Amino acid sequence: MAFEGLTERLQNAMSKLRRKGKISESDVKDAMREIRLALLEADVNFGVVKDFVKTVRERAVGTEVLDSLSPAQQIVKIVDEELTKVMGDEAVPLNKSAHIPTIIMMVGLQGAGKTTTAAKLAGYLKKNDNARPLFIAADIYRPAAIDQLQTVARQVDAPVFEMGTDTDPREIVRQGLAKAAEDKNDYVIIDTAGRLQIDEKLMQELQDIKEIAKPDEILLTVDAMTGQNAANVAKSFDEQLTITGVVLTKLDGDTRGGAALSIRAVTGKPIKFTGQGEKLTDLDVFHPDRMANRILG
Ligand code: GDP
Repeated sequence: MAFEGLTERLQNAMSKLRRKGKISESDVKDAMREIRLALLEADVNFGVVKDFVKTVRERAVGTEVLDSLSPAQQIVKIVDEELTKVMGDEAVPLNKSAHIPTIIMMVGLQGAGKTTTAAKLAGYLKKNDNARPLFIAADIYRPAAIDQLQTVARQVDAPVFEMGTDTDPREIVRQGLAKAAEDKNDYVIIDTAGRLQIDEKLMQELQDIKEIAKPDEILLTVDAMTGQNAANVAKSFDEQLTITGVVLTKLDGDTRGGAALSIRAVTGKPIKFTGQGEKLTDLDVFHPDRMANRILG
């Protein structure tokens, strides 16, 4: 289960405080040490942990907290609020263009869940926005990529524009956009190539596609199981492409929490959706407050 270790350790730290009744600064210090270790063990970025603990400690030793009737409860509330804040406070909706089509460019490392998420997103948009999306198959490097996109696109009943694997992805995108204009699609979802790691050629290609498509949304898919490395990947993609949001996939696995808690603070970019399974309906809007509650258990 996601966040299991983190939840357990945070709850332990909190219940120790609850048992105390009256709480001293040194009790707060002990609790903060435990929270710090819990977050580090959950693979949260070191700088994020440091800032988080500092803020919680400062708020917790404020006299209005320690002198209150229920100091432990107040501290739980502070931890909850700061967890929410570190993940961005508010849900951030998808960007939508003033005129059709809204163009969404999906980027990410291979295996993160990009193609699956593209299909989930199309399903989501059809359901919630009555959308008529068109996919553009711009991953020509992975042999099965186009087939895979077609399979999932069929499941969400949306068309795919593809030109096989012999045409340059930039040209595919150009022609795909022309097709969308012709068919008056209101959304275009571009499935771009991923690599096992970030390389210059991939980034150049993505930058060129960005230049051609002028997307309203550049969504980076990252795998929650990769912990704070997901935040590092997001930082690199953001530096090179200026992403507009992140989709955090595989939150149905036993991820520790490092990705969810690091990405916003490290990149400044919002997590917009989470993937909660392999089914094409397993996509949720990311709500920082609900995620904080889930982490606290
Ligand atoms: P891509 O290489 O980034 O396009 O990744 P794919 O879309 O091919 O996904 C890689 C694998 O991750 C596939 O087996 C997907 O079914 C799986 N996957 C994608 N999103 C999720 C998710 O949210 N939860 C789980 N459990 N698996 C996922």
